[in-house]
Amino acid sequence: MPGRVVIVGTGIAGAAAAQTLRKDGFDGEVVMIGADRRPPYRRTMLTKDLLSGRVDADRIPLRSADAWQTMPVEIRTGTWAADLDPVGRSITTEDVSISTEDGSITTEDVGTGARATLDYDALLLATGGRARRLDPPGGPAWPGVLHVRDAEDALALRSRIGEAVGAPGPRGRLVIVGAGLIGCEVAAVAAAAGVAVTLLEAGPRPLAGTVPEAVSEMLADLHAGHGVTIETGVQVTGVVGETDSDTSGKGVSVVQAADGRKWTAGVVVGAVGMIPATELAQSAGLDVADGILVDEYCATSAPGVYAAGDAARFPDPFTGGTCRIEHWNHGQAHGAAAARAILGNGRPYREVPWCWTHQYGVNLQIAGTPQAADEWRTDGDLGAREFLSVGFAAGQEVAAVAAGRPKELRAARARIGEHLTWSGAPAAAR
Ligand SMILES: Cc1cc2nc3c(=O)[nH]c(=O)nc-3n(C[C@H](O)[C@H](O)[C@H](O)COP(=O)(O)OP(=O)(O)OC[C@H]3O[C@@H](n4cnc5c(N)ncnc54)[C@H](O)[C@@H]3O)c2cc1C
Repeated sequence: MPGRVVIVGTGIAGAAAAQTLRKDGFDGEVVMIGADRRPPYRRTMLTKDLLSGRVDADRIPLRSADAWQTMPVEIRTGTWAADLDPVGRSITTEDVSISTEDGSITTEDVGTGARATLDYDALLLATGGRARRLDPPGGPAWPGVLHVRDAEDALALRSRIGEAVGAPGPRGRLVIVGAGLIGCEVAAVAAAAGVAVTLLEAGPRPLAGTVPEAVSEMLADLHAGHGVTIETGVQVTGVVGETDSDTSGKGVSVVQAADGRKWTAGVVVGAVGMIPATELAQSAGLDVADGILVDEYCATSAPGVYAAGDAARFPDPFTGGTCRIEHWNHGQAHGAAAARAILGNGRPYREVPWCWTHQYGVNLQIAGTPQAADEWRTDGDLGAREFLSVGFAAGQEVAAVAAGRPKELRAARARIGEHLTWSGAPAAAR
Protein backbone atom coordinates (compact mmCIF):
# COMPACT_ATOMS: atom_id res chain seq x y z
CA MET A 1 0.00 0.00 0.00
CA PRO A 2 1.44 3.37 -0.92
CA GLY A 3 2.02 5.91 1.85
CA ARG A 4 1.33 9.04 -0.19
CA VAL A 5 -0.71 9.31 -3.38
CA VAL A 6 -0.31 12.53 -5.33
CA ILE A 7 -2.93 13.43 -7.93
CA VAL A 8 -2.16 16.10 -10.53
CA GLY A 9 -5.41 17.67 -11.73
CA THR A 10 -8.49 18.71 -9.79
CA GLY A 11 -10.99 17.76 -12.51
CA ILE A 12 -13.46 14.89 -12.25
CA ALA A 13 -10.86 12.16 -12.91
CA GLY A 14 -8.62 13.41 -10.10
CA ALA A 15 -11.54 14.01 -7.76
CA ALA A 16 -13.07 10.57 -8.41
CA ALA A 17 -9.69 8.96 -7.77
CA ALA A 18 -9.29 10.77 -4.44
CA GLN A 19 -12.81 9.80 -3.35
CA THR A 20 -12.31 6.16 -4.38
CA LEU A 21 -9.02 5.92 -2.48
CA ARG A 22 -10.85 6.94 0.69
CA LYS A 23 -13.98 4.90 -0.01
CA ASP A 24 -11.83 1.81 -0.52
CA GLY A 25 -10.12 2.32 2.84
CA PHE A 26 -6.80 3.94 1.91
CA ASP A 27 -5.49 5.62 5.05
CA GLY A 28 -2.29 7.21 3.72
CA GLU A 29 -1.92 10.79 2.47
CA VAL A 30 -3.88 11.99 -0.58
CA VAL A 31 -2.69 15.28 -2.09
CA MET A 32 -4.40 16.83 -5.12
CA ILE A 33 -2.58 19.50 -7.08
CA GLY A 34 -4.41 21.72 -9.52
CA ALA A 35 -3.53 24.76 -11.58
CA ASP A 36 -7.16 25.86 -11.36
CA ARG A 37 -7.70 28.28 -8.52
CA ARG A 38 -10.99 26.59 -7.62
CA PRO A 39 -11.40 23.21 -5.90
CA PRO A 40 -13.01 20.46 -8.06
CA TYR A 41 -16.19 21.61 -9.81
CA ARG A 42 -18.71 20.38 -12.38
CA ARG A 43 -17.16 21.36 -15.69
CA THR A 44 -20.29 20.18 -17.51
CA MET A 45 -22.27 23.06 -15.97
CA LEU A 46 -20.04 25.69 -17.56
CA THR A 47 -21.81 25.86 -20.92
CA LYS A 48 -25.23 25.19 -19.42
CA ASP A 49 -26.39 26.56 -16.06
CA LEU A 50 -23.36 28.76 -15.32
CA LEU A 51 -23.25 30.35 -18.77
CA SER A 52 -26.99 31.02 -18.78
CA GLY A 53 -26.81 32.61 -15.33
CA ARG A 54 -29.26 30.06 -13.93
CA VAL A 55 -26.64 29.40 -11.25
CA ASP A 56 -23.61 31.28 -10.01
CA ALA A 57 -20.12 29.91 -9.51
CA ASP A 58 -20.82 29.08 -5.86
CA ARG A 59 -23.17 26.31 -7.07
CA ILE A 60 -20.68 24.41 -9.24
CA PRO A 61 -18.31 22.77 -6.69
CA LEU A 62 -18.32 18.98 -6.69
CA ARG A 63 -18.13 18.83 -2.90
CA SER A 64 -17.86 21.35 -0.07
CA ALA A 65 -14.45 22.33 1.36
CA ASP A 66 -15.54 20.62 4.61
CA ALA A 67 -16.27 17.35 2.81
CA TRP A 68 -12.75 17.25 1.32
CA GLN A 69 -11.24 18.04 4.72
CA THR A 70 -13.23 15.35 6.44
CA MET A 71 -12.18 12.61 3.99
CA PRO A 72 -9.36 13.89 4.33
CA VAL A 73 -7.96 15.01 0.97
CA GLU A 74 -5.50 17.88 0.80
CA ILE A 75 -6.19 20.10 -2.20
CA ARG A 76 -3.55 22.55 -3.39
CA THR A 77 -5.27 24.87 -5.85
CA GLY A 78 -3.41 27.45 -7.96
CA THR A 79 -0.48 25.03 -8.06
CA TRP A 80 1.20 23.85 -11.23
CA ALA A 81 3.04 20.51 -11.44
CA ALA A 82 6.06 21.72 -13.37
CA ASP A 83 8.42 18.72 -13.31
CA LEU A 84 8.15 15.01 -12.74
CA ASP A 85 11.05 12.77 -11.71
CA PRO A 86 9.68 9.23 -12.18
CA VAL A 87 12.90 7.60 -10.94
CA GLY A 88 13.17 9.60 -7.71
CA ARG A 89 9.32 9.55 -7.42
CA SER A 90 8.88 13.27 -6.88
CA ILE A 91 7.22 16.21 -8.56
CA THR A 92 8.19 19.86 -8.46
CA THR A 93 5.28 22.23 -8.04
CA GLU A 94 5.01 25.92 -8.57
CA ASP A 95 2.48 28.46 -7.32
CA VAL A 96 0.58 29.86 -10.28
CA SER A 97 0.48 33.63 -10.39
CA ILE A 98 -2.63 34.74 -12.20
CA SER A 99 -1.85 37.55 -14.59
CA THR A 100 -4.94 37.60 -16.78
CA GLU A 101 -7.60 40.19 -16.10
CA ASP A 102 -10.36 37.57 -15.91
CA GLY A 103 -8.42 35.37 -13.49
CA SER A 104 -7.98 32.46 -15.90
CA ILE A 105 -4.64 30.67 -15.93
CA THR A 106 -2.40 30.50 -18.96
CA THR A 107 0.90 28.68 -19.34
CA GLU A 108 2.57 32.12 -19.45
CA ASP A 109 1.69 32.40 -15.77
CA VAL A 110 3.93 29.45 -15.04
CA GLY A 111 7.63 29.95 -14.31
CA THR A 112 7.47 32.78 -11.80
CA GLY A 113 5.90 31.32 -8.63
CA ALA A 114 7.42 29.70 -5.54
CA ARG A 115 8.60 26.13 -6.16
CA ALA A 116 8.38 23.08 -3.89
CA THR A 117 9.17 19.38 -4.18
CA LEU A 118 6.70 16.68 -3.24
CA ASP A 119 7.58 12.97 -3.01
CA TYR A 120 5.03 10.31 -3.89
CA ASP A 121 4.63 6.56 -3.66
CA ALA A 122 2.01 6.58 -6.42
CA LEU A 123 1.17 9.41 -8.81
CA LEU A 124 -1.97 9.93 -10.89
CA LEU A 125 -1.80 12.28 -13.86
CA ALA A 126 -5.37 13.52 -14.33
CA THR A 127 -4.34 16.61 -16.24
CA GLY A 128 -7.28 16.79 -18.68
CA GLY A 129 -6.63 19.25 -21.44
CA ARG A 130 -7.05 22.76 -22.72
CA ALA A 131 -9.33 24.21 -25.39
CA ARG A 132 -7.86 23.91 -28.87
CA ARG A 133 -7.38 27.52 -29.93
CA LEU A 134 -8.90 28.82 -33.11
CA ASP A 135 -5.81 30.86 -33.94
CA PRO A 136 -2.80 28.96 -35.29
CA PRO A 137 -0.28 27.88 -32.63
CA GLY A 138 2.68 30.22 -32.16
CA GLY A 139 1.03 33.15 -33.97
CA PRO A 140 -0.61 36.21 -32.43
CA ALA A 141 -4.03 35.60 -30.84
CA TRP A 142 -6.93 36.46 -33.12
CA PRO A 143 -8.80 39.48 -31.73
CA GLY A 144 -11.95 38.99 -29.71
CA VAL A 145 -11.97 35.18 -29.80
CA LEU A 146 -13.00 33.41 -26.58
CA HIS A 147 -12.67 29.71 -25.73
CA VAL A 148 -14.38 27.77 -22.92
CA ARG A 149 -12.57 25.23 -20.77
CA ASP A 150 -12.66 26.50 -17.19
CA ALA A 151 -15.05 28.42 -14.95
CA GLU A 152 -13.29 31.73 -15.56
CA ASP A 153 -13.68 31.25 -19.34
CA ALA A 154 -17.41 30.61 -18.90
CA LEU A 155 -17.87 33.65 -16.63
CA ALA A 156 -16.01 35.86 -19.12
CA LEU A 157 -18.22 34.61 -21.96
CA ARG A 158 -21.33 35.08 -19.82
CA SER A 159 -20.53 38.72 -19.32
CA ARG A 160 -19.82 39.20 -23.07
CA ILE A 161 -23.15 37.55 -23.94
CA GLY A 162 -24.79 39.92 -21.44
CA GLU A 163 -23.22 42.90 -23.24
CA ALA A 164 -24.37 41.57 -26.62
CA VAL A 165 -28.03 41.28 -25.55
CA GLY A 166 -29.81 44.23 -27.13
CA ALA A 167 -26.62 45.74 -28.57
CA PRO A 168 -27.13 47.26 -32.02
CA GLY A 169 -25.68 45.89 -35.28
CA PRO A 170 -22.83 43.40 -35.25
CA ARG A 171 -22.11 44.04 -31.57
CA GLY A 172 -25.33 42.17 -30.80
CA ARG A 173 -24.12 39.14 -32.77
CA LEU A 174 -22.24 36.04 -31.60
CA VAL A 175 -20.33 33.85 -34.04
CA ILE A 176 -19.38 30.37 -32.84
CA VAL A 177 -16.84 28.35 -34.77
CA GLY A 178 -17.47 24.62 -34.33
CA ALA A 179 -20.88 22.91 -34.05
CA GLY A 180 -19.79 20.14 -31.70
CA LEU A 181 -21.27 19.62 -28.24
CA ILE A 182 -19.75 22.77 -26.71
CA GLY A 183 -20.44 25.04 -29.71
CA CYS A 184 -24.08 23.89 -29.84
CA GLU A 185 -24.55 24.41 -26.08
CA VAL A 186 -23.10 27.94 -26.24
CA ALA A 187 -25.38 28.69 -29.22
CA ALA A 188 -28.44 27.46 -27.30
CA VAL A 189 -27.66 29.60 -24.23
CA ALA A 190 -26.87 32.74 -26.24
CA ALA A 191 -29.92 32.36 -28.50
CA ALA A 192 -32.17 31.87 -25.47
CA ALA A 193 -30.70 35.10 -24.03
CA GLY A 194 -31.76 36.96 -27.19
CA VAL A 195 -28.42 37.26 -28.99
CA ALA A 196 -28.24 36.81 -32.79
CA VAL A 197 -26.17 33.63 -33.17
CA THR A 198 -24.35 32.24 -36.19
CA LEU A 199 -22.86 28.76 -35.86
CA LEU A 200 -20.08 27.96 -38.34
CA GLU A 201 -19.17 24.32 -38.95
CA ALA A 202 -16.47 22.85 -41.18
CA GLY A 203 -18.32 19.54 -41.53
CA PRO A 204 -21.62 18.81 -43.26
CA ARG A 205 -23.86 19.20 -40.19
CA PRO A 206 -23.83 19.79 -36.41
CA LEU A 207 -22.47 16.89 -34.32
CA ALA A 208 -21.55 14.95 -37.47
CA GLY A 209 -19.93 11.65 -36.43
CA THR A 210 -21.42 11.89 -32.94
CA VAL A 211 -25.10 11.35 -33.76
CA PRO A 212 -26.92 9.86 -36.78
CA GLU A 213 -27.83 12.19 -39.63
CA ALA A 214 -31.53 12.34 -38.71
CA VAL A 215 -30.71 13.40 -35.13
CA SER A 216 -28.25 15.96 -36.43
CA GLU A 217 -30.98 17.39 -38.67
CA MET A 218 -33.39 17.44 -35.74
CA LEU A 219 -30.81 19.44 -33.75
CA ALA A 220 -30.24 21.83 -36.65
CA ASP A 221 -34.03 22.41 -36.82
CA LEU A 222 -34.13 22.99 -33.06
CA HIS A 223 -31.44 25.68 -33.36
CA ALA A 224 -33.06 27.25 -36.44
CA GLY A 225 -36.35 27.37 -34.53
CA HIS A 226 -34.59 29.51 -31.92
CA GLY A 227 -33.18 31.87 -34.54
CA VAL A 228 -29.67 30.39 -34.85
CA THR A 229 -28.15 30.51 -38.33
CA ILE A 230 -26.06 27.41 -39.10
CA GLU A 231 -23.51 27.56 -41.92
CA THR A 232 -21.80 24.27 -42.80
CA GLY A 233 -18.71 23.54 -44.92
CA VAL A 234 -17.00 26.66 -43.53
CA GLN A 235 -13.22 26.67 -43.20
CA VAL A 236 -12.29 29.63 -41.01
CA THR A 237 -8.95 31.11 -42.08
CA GLY A 238 -8.70 34.21 -39.91
CA VAL A 239 -10.31 36.70 -37.57
CA VAL A 240 -9.46 40.39 -37.76
CA GLY A 241 -10.45 43.28 -35.53
CA GLU A 242 -12.37 46.22 -36.97
CA THR A 243 -13.89 49.38 -35.59
CA ASP A 244 -17.66 49.31 -35.72
CA SER A 245 -18.71 52.64 -37.21
CA ASP A 246 -22.37 52.05 -36.21
CA THR A 247 -21.79 51.86 -32.49
CA SER A 248 -19.56 54.64 -31.23
CA GLY A 249 -16.42 53.16 -32.68
CA LYS A 250 -16.30 50.03 -30.49
CA GLY A 251 -14.37 46.98 -31.70
CA VAL A 252 -15.89 44.04 -33.56
CA SER A 253 -14.33 40.90 -34.99
CA VAL A 254 -14.59 39.81 -38.61
CA VAL A 255 -14.42 36.05 -39.16
CA GLN A 256 -13.07 35.14 -42.59
CA ALA A 257 -13.62 31.85 -44.43
CA ALA A 258 -11.53 30.18 -47.15
CA ASP A 259 -14.30 30.72 -49.72
CA GLY A 260 -14.33 34.50 -49.13
CA ARG A 261 -17.38 34.68 -46.86
CA LYS A 262 -17.19 36.95 -43.79
CA TRP A 263 -19.18 37.36 -40.59
CA THR A 264 -18.89 40.37 -38.28
CA ALA A 265 -19.68 39.95 -34.59
CA GLY A 266 -19.17 41.49 -31.19
CA VAL A 267 -18.18 38.12 -29.75
CA VAL A 268 -16.49 35.13 -31.40
CA VAL A 269 -16.22 31.75 -29.68
CA GLY A 270 -13.77 29.07 -30.81
CA ALA A 271 -15.28 25.64 -30.04
CA VAL A 272 -12.98 23.38 -32.04
CA GLY A 273 -12.13 20.68 -29.51
CA MET A 274 -9.44 20.20 -26.90
CA ILE A 275 -5.79 19.23 -26.65
CA PRO A 276 -4.76 16.74 -23.95
CA ALA A 277 -2.35 18.13 -21.35
CA THR A 278 0.58 15.75 -21.79
CA GLU A 279 3.56 18.08 -21.33
CA LEU A 280 4.40 16.95 -17.78
CA ALA A 281 4.38 13.28 -18.82
CA GLN A 282 6.26 13.97 -22.04
CA SER A 283 9.06 15.97 -20.42
CA ALA A 284 9.50 13.13 -17.89
CA GLY A 285 10.00 10.64 -20.74
CA LEU A 286 6.67 8.78 -20.39
CA ASP A 287 5.09 7.29 -23.52
CA VAL A 288 2.77 9.88 -25.06
CA ALA A 289 0.81 9.88 -28.35
CA ASP A 290 -2.16 12.27 -28.40
CA GLY A 291 -2.61 11.42 -24.74
CA ILE A 292 -0.61 9.78 -21.98
CA LEU A 293 -0.45 6.09 -22.93
CA VAL A 294 -1.78 3.72 -20.28
CA ASP A 295 -2.68 0.04 -20.10
CA GLU A 296 -6.11 -1.24 -19.09
CA TYR A 297 -5.18 -0.66 -15.43
CA CYS A 298 -4.39 3.04 -16.07
CA ALA A 299 -0.64 2.40 -15.60
CA THR A 300 1.72 4.55 -17.69
CA SER A 301 5.14 3.47 -18.96
CA ALA A 302 6.73 4.68 -15.65
CA PRO A 303 6.44 2.52 -12.51
CA GLY A 304 4.07 3.99 -9.92
CA VAL A 305 2.66 6.58 -12.36
CA TYR A 306 -0.94 6.29 -13.56
CA ALA A 307 -3.08 8.47 -15.82
CA ALA A 308 -6.84 8.84 -16.29
CA GLY A 309 -9.57 10.96 -17.85
CA ASP A 310 -9.36 13.27 -20.87
CA ALA A 311 -5.54 13.19 -20.81
CA ALA A 312 -5.12 9.40 -21.01
CA ARG A 313 -5.09 7.15 -24.09
CA PHE A 314 -6.09 3.60 -23.16
CA PRO A 315 -6.76 0.24 -24.84
CA ASP A 316 -10.12 0.49 -26.62
CA PRO A 317 -12.23 -2.59 -25.88
CA PHE A 318 -14.37 -1.80 -28.95
CA THR A 319 -11.75 -1.63 -31.66
CA GLY A 320 -8.72 -3.39 -30.20
CA GLY A 321 -6.74 -0.15 -30.76
CA THR A 322 -6.41 2.74 -28.33
CA CYS A 323 -8.68 5.68 -27.64
CA ARG A 324 -9.07 8.82 -25.60
CA ILE A 325 -12.53 9.75 -24.36
CA GLU A 326 -13.56 13.29 -23.45
CA HIS A 327 -16.71 12.67 -21.39
CA TRP A 328 -17.53 13.45 -17.78
CA ASN A 329 -18.66 9.91 -16.88
CA HIS A 330 -15.56 8.41 -18.41
CA GLY A 331 -13.38 10.77 -16.32
CA GLN A 332 -15.26 9.66 -13.23
CA ALA A 333 -15.03 5.92 -13.97
CA HIS A 334 -11.44 6.05 -15.23
CA GLY A 335 -10.24 8.05 -12.21
CA ALA A 336 -11.92 5.52 -9.90
CA ALA A 337 -10.34 2.65 -11.87
CA ALA A 338 -6.89 4.25 -11.48
CA ALA A 339 -7.41 4.56 -7.71
CA ARG A 340 -8.31 0.86 -7.45
CA ALA A 341 -5.22 -0.05 -9.49
CA ILE A 342 -3.05 2.08 -7.17
CA LEU A 343 -4.46 0.12 -4.22
CA GLY A 344 -3.72 -3.20 -5.94
CA ASN A 345 -7.41 -3.95 -6.61
CA GLY A 346 -7.43 -3.01 -10.29
CA ARG A 347 -9.77 -4.49 -12.87
CA PRO A 348 -9.36 -4.05 -16.63
CA TYR A 349 -11.11 -0.84 -17.69
CA ARG A 350 -13.93 -1.75 -20.09
CA GLU A 351 -16.66 0.85 -19.77
CA VAL A 352 -19.08 1.62 -22.57
CA PRO A 353 -18.70 5.39 -22.97
CA TRP A 354 -21.69 7.66 -22.67
CA CYS A 355 -22.27 11.40 -22.47
CA TRP A 356 -25.08 13.90 -22.64
CA THR A 357 -25.79 17.38 -23.86
CA HIS A 358 -28.54 19.77 -22.90
CA GLN A 359 -29.91 22.24 -25.44
CA TYR A 360 -33.20 24.21 -25.25
CA GLY A 361 -34.52 21.86 -22.58
CA VAL A 362 -33.75 18.74 -24.67
CA ASN A 363 -31.45 16.25 -22.96
CA LEU A 364 -29.66 14.15 -25.57
CA GLN A 365 -27.75 11.05 -24.41
CA ILE A 366 -25.12 9.30 -26.50
CA ALA A 367 -23.61 5.89 -25.70
CA GLY A 368 -21.07 3.57 -27.32
CA THR A 369 -19.10 4.30 -30.46
CA PRO A 370 -21.38 6.20 -32.88
CA GLN A 371 -18.62 6.70 -35.45
CA ALA A 372 -18.39 2.89 -35.86
CA ALA A 373 -22.07 2.52 -36.83
CA ASP A 374 -22.90 1.74 -40.46
CA GLU A 375 -26.66 1.58 -39.91
CA TRP A 376 -29.10 3.31 -37.55
CA ARG A 377 -32.60 2.19 -36.53
CA THR A 378 -34.84 4.71 -34.78
CA ASP A 379 -37.87 4.13 -32.63
CA GLY A 380 -40.01 7.07 -31.49
CA ASP A 381 -40.59 10.59 -32.70
CA LEU A 382 -37.59 12.78 -33.50
CA GLY A 383 -39.83 15.85 -33.96
CA ALA A 384 -41.24 15.38 -30.45
CA ARG A 385 -37.64 14.83 -29.15
CA GLU A 386 -38.66 11.43 -27.76
CA PHE A 387 -36.77 8.61 -29.43
CA LEU A 388 -34.06 5.96 -29.28
CA SER A 389 -31.70 5.48 -32.25
CA VAL A 390 -29.53 2.39 -32.16
CA GLY A 391 -26.38 2.20 -34.29
CA PHE A 392 -25.17 -1.13 -35.71
CA ALA A 393 -21.85 -2.24 -37.18
CA ALA A 394 -22.11 -5.46 -39.22
CA GLY A 395 -25.47 -6.10 -37.54
CA GLN A 396 -24.24 -5.70 -33.95
CA GLU A 397 -25.26 -2.86 -31.62
CA VAL A 398 -22.35 -0.46 -31.12
CA ALA A 399 -24.03 2.87 -30.25
CA ALA A 400 -27.24 4.47 -29.06
CA VAL A 401 -28.57 8.02 -29.07
CA ALA A 402 -31.74 9.01 -27.23
CA ALA A 403 -33.86 11.87 -25.99
CA GLY A 404 -36.58 11.42 -23.37
CA ARG A 405 -35.81 7.69 -23.02
CA PRO A 406 -33.16 7.38 -20.31
CA LYS A 407 -34.12 3.80 -19.32
CA GLU A 408 -33.94 2.53 -22.88
CA LEU A 409 -30.61 4.27 -23.40
CA ARG A 410 -29.27 2.57 -20.26
CA ALA A 411 -30.51 -0.81 -21.50
CA ALA A 412 -28.93 -0.26 -24.93
CA ARG A 413 -25.65 0.71 -23.26
CA ALA A 414 -25.73 -2.52 -21.23
CA ARG A 415 -26.36 -4.56 -24.40
CA ILE A 416 -23.44 -2.84 -26.15
CA GLY A 417 -21.25 -3.82 -23.18
CA GLU A 418 -22.37 -7.45 -23.39
CA HIS A 419 -20.97 -7.72 -26.91
CA LEU A 420 -17.45 -7.14 -25.61
CA THR A 421 -15.42 -10.33 -25.62
CA TRP A 422 -12.89 -11.01 -22.86
CA SER A 423 -10.21 -9.70 -25.19
CA GLY A 424 -12.10 -6.48 -25.62
CA ALA A 425 -13.37 -5.87 -29.09
CA PRO A 426 -16.75 -7.11 -30.29
CA ALA A 427 -16.27 -9.12 -33.45
CA ALA A 428 -18.29 -6.61 -35.48
CA ALA A 429 -16.15 -3.59 -34.64
CA ARG A 430 -12.74 -5.23 -34.66
C1 LIG B 1 -17.49 23.51 -21.22
C2 LIG B 1 -17.54 22.02 -21.16
C3 LIG B 1 -18.77 21.35 -21.08
C4 LIG B 1 -18.80 19.96 -21.05
N1 LIG B 1 -20.02 19.33 -20.99
C5 LIG B 1 -20.06 17.98 -20.95
C6 LIG B 1 -21.30 17.29 -20.89
O1 LIG B 1 -22.37 17.89 -20.89
N2 LIG B 1 -21.29 15.93 -20.81
C7 LIG B 1 -20.12 15.22 -20.81
O2 LIG B 1 -20.15 13.98 -20.73
N3 LIG B 1 -18.92 15.84 -20.88
C8 LIG B 1 -18.87 17.20 -20.95
N4 LIG B 1 -17.66 17.84 -21.01
C9 LIG B 1 -16.42 17.04 -20.96
C10 LIG B 1 -16.04 16.73 -19.52
O3 LIG B 1 -16.28 17.85 -18.71
C11 LIG B 1 -14.58 16.31 -19.48
O4 LIG B 1 -14.47 15.10 -20.20
C12 LIG B 1 -14.09 16.08 -18.05
O5 LIG B 1 -14.30 17.22 -17.25
C13 LIG B 1 -12.60 15.72 -18.06
O6 LIG B 1 -12.16 15.54 -16.76
P1 LIG B 1 -10.61 15.37 -16.41
O7 LIG B 1 -10.56 15.30 -14.92
O8 LIG B 1 -10.04 14.27 -17.21
O9 LIG B 1 -9.89 16.70 -16.93
P2 LIG B 1 -10.15 18.23 -16.58
O10 LIG B 1 -11.54 18.46 -16.14
O11 LIG B 1 -9.65 18.99 -17.75
O12 LIG B 1 -9.20 18.51 -15.33
C14 LIG B 1 -7.83 18.53 -15.44
C15 LIG B 1 -7.26 19.55 -14.48
O13 LIG B 1 -5.85 19.40 -14.44
C16 LIG B 1 -5.25 20.66 -14.35
N5 LIG B 1 -3.86 20.54 -14.81
C17 LIG B 1 -3.41 20.19 -16.04
N6 LIG B 1 -2.06 20.14 -16.06
C18 LIG B 1 -1.65 20.48 -14.81
C19 LIG B 1 -0.37 20.61 -14.21
N7 LIG B 1 0.76 20.36 -14.87
N8 LIG B 1 -0.32 21.00 -12.92
C20 LIG B 1 -1.46 21.23 -12.21
N9 LIG B 1 -2.69 21.10 -12.73
C21 LIG B 1 -2.79 20.73 -14.02
C22 LIG B 1 -6.12 21.55 -15.20
O14 LIG B 1 -5.98 22.89 -14.80
C23 LIG B 1 -7.52 20.99 -14.91
O15 LIG B 1 -8.14 21.67 -13.86
C24 LIG B 1 -17.60 19.23 -21.07
C25 LIG B 1 -16.35 19.90 -21.15
C26 LIG B 1 -16.32 21.28 -21.18
C27 LIG B 1 -14.99 21.99 -21.29
